[in-house]
Amino acid sequence: MKRILLNNLHVINPCSDPALIENAFITISGDTIESVGSKKPSGEFDDIYDLQGKIALPGMINAHHHLYSALAVGMPLPKNNPTNFTEILQEVWWKMDLALDRDSTQACFEAGLLDSLKAGTTTIIDHHCSPSFIKGSLSLLAETGEKLGLNTSVAFEISDRNGEEKFEASLQENLDTVRKFSGTPHVHPMLGLHASFTLTDASLKKIREAAGGLDSWGIHAHVSEDIADEADAAQKGYGSVLERLEKFDLINENGLVIHGLHIKKSDAELIQKHNAQLVHNPSSNANNRVGMASNYNLKKLKSGLGTDGMQGNMLREGKEGMLIRSSHLSGGKDSVDYMQFLFENNVSIASKLFGRKIGRILPNYQADLAIFDYYPRTPITESTIFGHVFFGLNDSPSDVITRGEFRVRDRLLLNLSEEEIKANAASQAKRLWSHFA
Ligand SMILES: [Zn+2]
Repeated sequence: MKRILLNNLHVINPCSDPALIENAFITISGDTIESVGSKKPSGEFDDIYDLQGKIALPGMINAHHHLYSALAVGMPLPKNNPTNFTEILQEVWWKMDLALDRDSTQACFEAGLLDSLKAGTTTIIDHHCSPSFIKGSLSLLAETGEKLGLNTSVAFEISDRNGEEKFEASLQENLDTVRKFSGTPHVHPMLGLHASFTLTDASLKKIREAAGGLDSWGIHAHVSEDIADEADAAQKGYGSVLERLEKFDLINENGLVIHGLHIKKSDAELIQKHNAQLVHNPSSNANNRVGMASNYNLKKLKSGLGTDGMQGNMLREGKEGMLIRSSHLSGGKDSVDYMQFLFENNVSIASKLFGRKIGRILPNYQADLAIFDYYPRTPITESTIFGHVFFGLNDSPSDVITRGEFRVRDRLLLNLSEEEIKANAASQAKRLWSHFA
């Protein structure tokens, strides 16, 4: 197995003890971190890299992303200006996802994963939707993740909004993918549900029955993102969205509950009872004006942090989350810690889902690192890490290592052409946009 040594770097390991190792050495064996410390390790190495005093953070985890939105940057605005959340979905996202075909979907995956990798995000938990290209879409995502060396969790958003045939095909794509990738180290398949309000009772029943044929499964679903989701569940005769999902036995310890903005105390208890995970997406919630998840719930449920398709950069998402929260003067008496969301709760989520240690620079963790050429103007100590992480180095890393291999070196993507990926994405975006310009 290949053994490499990284020397002359400082390690910031937020939410670990110690959280800072100055003048560190890291040894990596194969795809796994072997040792981290300030004492020079002995032994033979295949490669030795001098990191010139740079700062390493663990490769970061995005606990909820939509890579299919990668070509939406600069997209033409809808003719009818949406005035609420449901209209935003109808006028923007549901038109765009329906226009995605195989080529544009592939361009989304490549460009979106590249964007994440270059921001030091090395594990992406994705929620995919391309209703005109369903069969094989999740395998394509898994293969693209493999090409770039990332960990990807894949799921297709099942929904009734495009008719029965697409509902069936989406369910089948999830089932096929769970069977194909369960137990693989770098791909974690899940059952994607768009949201309660686009699924009938009959469909939820069908999904649960199909899941019964799998060895292991967990749902990845938008829950209570907007109050309209709760109103729909109430109108269907349920106490809440989560009560509805529980009624169909769809919540378990492998499940991800995304958003949970309007959940009640009893809903939070329900998430806890089943050991499911809540994921908070602050920049998207602000962008859609759907409200803000309560400090109390985020803290109590040890929420993860995702970007909901808004961006690939997790440090930026954390900082924006903090600023959005600070701008609401009455945030409540409970404080929340974005460092904990990103570097502790996301680490637990990813390690649980992928079944291996991911997200810290410690022995036996997968060797995923984001390395920054950041030379601070103020002292870095255990107690000043927070400020440096969110207000100092929140630029892109100069180097990214995944599975023990450099994928980005001095800002240059290795093994693949960044220019080609971006040129293809730009031409696919033009074609995609022409469908609804
Ligand atoms: Zn989402």
